[in-house]
Amino acid sequence: MIKDIKGLHHVTSMAADAAINNRFFTDTLGLRRVKKTVNFDAPEVYHLYYGDEIGTPGSVMTYFPFGDMPRGRRGTGEVGVTEFAVPEGALGFWKERLARSGVRGLSESSFLGEARLGFAGPDGDSFALVESAARGRTAWTGADVPQDAGILGFHGARMRLRDSAATAELLSFMGYQKDETDGAVTRYRIEGGNAADTIDLETVAGGQTAAQGAGSVHHIAFAVEDRAAQARVREALLATGYQVTPVIDRDYFWAIYFRTPGGVLFEIATNEPGFDRDEDTARLGQALKLPTRYEPFRDRIEDLLPALGA
Ligand code: ZN
Repeated sequence: MIKDIKGLHHVTSMAADAAINNRFFTDTLGLRRVKKTVNFDAPEVYHLYYGDEIGTPGSVMTYFPFGDMPRGRRGTGEVGVTEFAVPEGALGFWKERLARSGVRGLSESSFLGEARLGFAGPDGDSFALVESAARGRTAWTGADVPQDAGILGFHGARMRLRDSAATAELLSFMGYQKDETDGAVTRYRIEGGNAADTIDLETVAGGQTAAQGAGSVHHIAFAVEDRAAQARVREALLATGYQVTPVIDRDYFWAIYFRTPGGVLFEIATNEPGFDRDEDTARLGQALKLPTRYEPFRDRIEDLLPALGA
């Protein structure tokens, strides 16, 4: 069994409009944009990273805003809900703030004793805020969000699958332990990880398969401490029969990817070197950062990228 996974590292989704995406995550949710770079395979598309002050693994929501991309269709074989943790008692603040901002899909509920507020992102993305203990995490209080309400990072993610058995087995192999079940949803939790440590599997037998588009999660990344741990995880996955990519340098972490039995793309990402490797913490996310191979084309890339607004 793998012992190196520490919880979530980041969640990467697709969006249509870059400026709307940027405004939603920084102004409405009050996260910090910790990196402004490009899709390493399509440099005319941004890769925007939002998180806490330094983009601590377990706090980082990332987006590829493709411009005129059509919306995805929610369904099975995808991450159905991306969940952020907020302090206990904060949901009242958020309910009022999100409603005032015109955010759609607000719905209050409770799951396994935790109060939740579901809401939709600008492209119909499915999110929830979940009241949780801080567990050493500090909210980034951008856009006048008070400290006692700010987003602490991810709580976890809910995957929606036609058949959860093989994915449950994979999560166990990755070090997750089966927790409680409520209805069609079973929670898995990792011990000793960062606080973004739950994965919920929702079984929707016969559900329509999701179609990816704007508002869909592209992949979900799990954290490992360093490249040595990542190599151990890669070997273990290969030995179990998973088709895992070679290690890819993403400038701010090292990545490997593999497709899971339920259809969701998983990534294993290193906590090293982090988002402050090429800019000061005080100025994170402001300048456009390009991977070295695109630097010669900076002027052209800057011309192609849309303005993000203030
Ligand atoms: Zn990723």
